[in-house]
Amino acid sequence: MSVRSDSLERFITGVKKRNPGEPEFHQAVEEVAASIIPYIQDKPIYQEMQILERMAEPDRAVTFRVCWEDDNGNIRVNRGYRVQFNNSIGPYKGGIRFHPTVTLSVLKFLGFEQTFKNSLTGLPMGGGKGGSDFNPKGKSNNEVMRFCQSFMTELNRHIGENTDVPAGDIGVGAREIGYMFGQYKRLTNEFVGVLTGKGLEFGGSLIRTEATGYGTIYMLDNMLQHAGNGMEGKNIVISGSGNVATYAAEKCHQLGAKVLTMSDSSGFIHDPAGIDEEKLAYMVDLKQVRRGRIKEYADKFGCEFHEGRPWNVPCDVAVPCATQNEISGDEAAALLKNGCMAVSEGANMPTELTGINAFQDAGILYAPSKAANAGGVAVSGLEMSQNSARISWKEDELQDLLKGIMKDIHDNCAEYGQKGDKVDYLAGANIAGFVKVADAMLAYGVV
Ligand code: NDP
Repeated sequence: MSVRSDSLERFITGVKKRNPGEPEFHQAVEEVAASIIPYIQDKPIYQEMQILERMAEPDRAVTFRVCWEDDNGNIRVNRGYRVQFNNSIGPYKGGIRFHPTVTLSVLKFLGFEQTFKNSLTGLPMGGGKGGSDFNPKGKSNNEVMRFCQSFMTELNRHIGENTDVPAGDIGVGAREIGYMFGQYKRLTNEFVGVLTGKGLEFGGSLIRTEATGYGTIYMLDNMLQHAGNGMEGKNIVISGSGNVATYAAEKCHQLGAKVLTMSDSSGFIHDPAGIDEEKLAYMVDLKQVRRGRIKEYADKFGCEFHEGRPWNVPCDVAVPCATQNEISGDEAAALLKNGCMAVSEGANMPTELTGINAFQDAGILYAPSKAANAGGVAVSGLEMSQNSARISWKEDELQDLLKGIMKDIHDNCAEYGQKGDKVDYLAGANIAGFVKVADAMLAYGVV
């Protein structure tokens, strides 16, 4: 059983006091602090310089009004945010999320996590996150365009190719990035790499779309191989049916595993025959082009649809790719009971702390999101390099770079997380991500 030390207790109490009403942020900080506090016990310089305390405070957070007009001529008001968390090792970098559940707490948790994740990639990127409580679901293209333009009209003051380079996240895909980049260009009269995830015609990078999902499965494959196992023949339960879930499913299939489930916010489909490339192409058309509900997949291929989440389906591996806190302690217990021996997190913080403790106590292979889903931001970093140099790398070069970065992340986590004959990937990811940012902060003195 995990027991909280006095130092961790004191630290978390302080974070909660300074950030009232922000449960997601508290959760993300606690998960990291539980690994970092023991690590810095015998490293007084990090304690004297209050490095962890400073890392738990964003550099700044801006919120702003976003007004736009719907197709019926009504004026609508949403709230926009950008949390610039830490730029010690490079410009702020992290996605923009459009979803009704977006709050400052959610974006602070995401920005905090992003700082560690970006450090793990080995590329020079700081951490940030932004978004709005705008719900793109059910909106026309013109409504989404007007919203994105209004959002960027304020956001453009806070970002820049050397300052802060946002990307996509939930509810923000190629369409939204296109509208926002177009508005940035119009407002500033500059064509620079200020957003990543752009279309290929205007500075986007090959494989950026696939990178997060592929990377999550490369991380899984690396963990399995390190443990003397492999992907071939594994039964995989995936949640989500968006960008990350789709390419995670594709890579599982390519590596010889069978994907049994995918989901959306209405429920999940269970296809015991496996979701192959042809069925995935249907899923992409259904969810990303027609923006329909996942039940249509079950009707088309004659499999089961259930409300709720897929974690009671027996599997070897779980790959959560939808959203935060989608695996509770009870659901983690159900996965373990049904034989799950590995988890690779495509979504950000998809497992509640009680669930993480259950995985850790059971000693299964558990890759936390900051390591497992870092492939997306890594290729975003490569998109920034290509934009700066005004060149485009070829697909096979980028595929090799992504694979290499995920292998390095795995090995780095394994080095810092080695405990006896096992690897604690959670501690490994937290510590490896911390050290680089902390050492840069030490070099800057008190700032
Ligand atoms: P998408 O918007 O493309 O897809 C999100 C998927 O998750 C959809 O199937 C959606 O269902 C489902 N979903 C969203 N919110 C909920 C909810 N509250 N309950 C149940 N299902 C939900 O997003 P992405 O695939 O880009 O992102 C998924 C996760 O991966 C997020 O945690 C994101 O932060 C993380 N991530 C994404 C990266 C990227 O490159 N895109 C990079 C790193 C992390 P529905 O269609 O019904 O809304």
